[in-house]
Amino acid sequence: MLQQTQVKTVLPYFRKFRLIFPTLDSLSRSSEKKVLKMWEGLGYYRRARNLLATSKILAKNYRSQLPKEYKEIIKLPGIGDYTANALQAFIFNKPTLAIDGNVKRVFSRLLNKNENKINFKSLIEINKKNLFRLNRNSDLVEAFMEFGALVCKPKEPDCQNCKLNNICIYFKSKNKFVKTLKVKPETKSYNIFCYINKEKNQIALTKKNNLGFLKNFYLPPMKEVKDGSLLRNWKHHSNFKNLISNKKLDINLYYKYTKKNPMQTEWFSLKNNYEFIPSFTKKIFKEVLKIN
Ligand code: SF4
Repeated sequence: MLQQTQVKTVLPYFRKFRLIFPTLDSLSRSSEKKVLKMWEGLGYYRRARNLLATSKILAKNYRSQLPKEYKEIIKLPGIGDYTANALQAFIFNKPTLAIDGNVKRVFSRLLNKNENKINFKSLIEINKKNLFRLNRNSDLVEAFMEFGALVCKPKEPDCQNCKLNNICIYFKSKNKFVKTLKVKPETKSYNIFCYINKEKNQIALTKKNNLGFLKNFYLPPMKEVKDGSLLRNWKHHSNFKNLISNKKLDINLYYKYTKKNPMQTEWFSLKNNYEFIPSFTKKIFKEVLKIN
């Protein structure tokens, strides 16, 4: 989660999580509902599910230990190349680097070469004797993360005080070839359709969506649209922006009053604070409650 959000946001969640689940076994025995509840508000809910699924696999097949081999770790739910390498270094002190944006940026500046012109895997392989000579591989991965966050920062690197400036080609060169590549969150437009039972103060929600996010969570029917032009046959309530899974959503919220909910939806009271309902849907509840 620290790749997606700030430490100060994650910290209270982490502390609570460790309190409720002090061991991997205790996590593996938990229900998905309980884990999701504790994750509520952080977003990226698939990570919570993967964490739980991984804990169950480790408890069942690996005597609650992380396997040592990369090819075993990478099979676990939600573990990709970056996390597998980070785990190997952090837990087993294996000579490997987790290549994230920080590592890429630091190497790219040291060499004064654009990131997309560097083969990072082979660069590490060629320099492995030097990189891992102290056998403090866990510290090295952490150091790269901190160095990238505090010294060789994306904007305004602190070159004057940097201990590597004597070997840094970016620092020494007049021609700075490196441009920081920024991934802008993509913006997509969505219409949200709120079917409201006015008498009972209820809204129709569905778990079926093909949106590519918040899968299997209760949401009002929602549809991606090419642009945000307004519909005529629905009442338009509001337009708002929301950030989910690195997507910027530009949302138009529509509503209509009805006593009959559409197919594949269930009624939910707008006044209940359901535990299993994601914060995104709760935000829509608040919007709907403003109607009238
Ligand atoms: S000298 Fe500047 S650009 Fe080079 S590694 Fe240090 S902080 Fe980064």
